[in-house]
Amino acid sequence: MPQPADAPATQVVSLGRPPQEPGAPMSVPPVLTSTYVADGPVNYARVGNPTWTAFEDAVGPLEGGRALAFASGMAAVAAVVSLVPVGGTVVAPAAAYNGVVVHLTEAAERGQLQVRWVDDVTDTAAVTAALEGADLLWLESPTNPLLDVADLRTLLAVARERGVLSAVDNTFATPLLQRPLELGADVVVHSATKYLAGHSDLLMGVTVTGSEGAATHERLARHRQLSGAVPGPMETWLALRGLRTLAVRLERACANAAELAARLGDHPRVHRVRYPGFGAIVSIEVDGGAEGAERLCAATRLWVHATSLGGVESQLERRRRQPGEPEAVPVDLVRLSVGIEDVEDLWRDLDAALRG
Ligand SMILES: *Cc1c(COP(=O)(O)O)cnc(C)c1O
Repeated sequence: MPQPADAPATQVVSLGRPPQEPGAPMSVPPVLTSTYVADGPVNYARVGNPTWTAFEDAVGPLEGGRALAFASGMAAVAAVVSLVPVGGTVVAPAAAYNGVVVHLTEAAERGQLQVRWVDDVTDTAAVTAALEGADLLWLESPTNPLLDVADLRTLLAVARERGVLSAVDNTFATPLLQRPLELGADVVVHSATKYLAGHSDLLMGVTVTGSEGAATHERLARHRQLSGAVPGPMETWLALRGLRTLAVRLERACANAAELAARLGDHPRVHRVRYPGFGAIVSIEVDGGAEGAERLCAATRLWVHATSLGGVESQLERRRRQPGEPEAVPVDLVRLSVGIEDVEDLWRDLDAALRG
């Protein structure tokens, strides 16, 4: 009898392990080598590494496809952008992750490609209109940091119909909350630096391609090999170790975020709360403009003032302090990456800092 597929909360624990044989270790170790003895399946470590394979064997099935590990989220982004033919057209949200916006802008300035920026990913008609004759649809949902949610199923279906390659940055949702390949995406991208690894101690990225994406997978693998955008074995081992607890980390972080979003909605110093109803990122717009937002970030004790997200520890940042952050992001917006601490401690700290 065929076994039913394990739930994602099981897969994060069980996948990417060595075969259960007598004496086998529990986990694939970090294989620290630059080269391999000749005549094996892989001869050099820029081409393959068993620790990458373990990580990819865990992340791939979680997203419903085949994964490739990269040195960082941006390395994975650059690999996908490399699929666009010279002079081709990319459709992308004007307020996507700022590294993506800057990467695409500079590629356009070099004459490598053209970008059609879409101001609002929730405007399905506008995004589909922009797809005419395009080569790549780049989507992020929820977007960073405005937390807009796109109608992925519709947009991805239209892209497929028109022969436009589609990629979804699934960093914010994780495969536990959203599986873009099932919604029709050709490629999923992650900054594994964030939730997948989850401990703010490494940089890594991933691409995942679906069952019809074998050719795309090969091109991405070739790009990784020849651009050298390869992750270190130690980072990969730590990321897989972090992935083991993704389900429990996310469950707690999401519950904390839902509770804080509800309380922040009633806070006298907060005039807008952006929370898509899932995930563990909440963006707030606070009184006092940019200075008010900076004061909040400087005043917390538990919440760490830092630019990243997706770690076990709660972090906050006024996004517009970053050069290159799109102007669509309000100056008084503070992005909260809600961690797994006790929610009452998080609230007390945030409330006190907001009240100054
Ligand atoms: C952080 C981030 C990236 C870039 O990933 P790095 O690992 O920092 O290179 C891309 N997309 C989103 C949504 C991110 O949050």
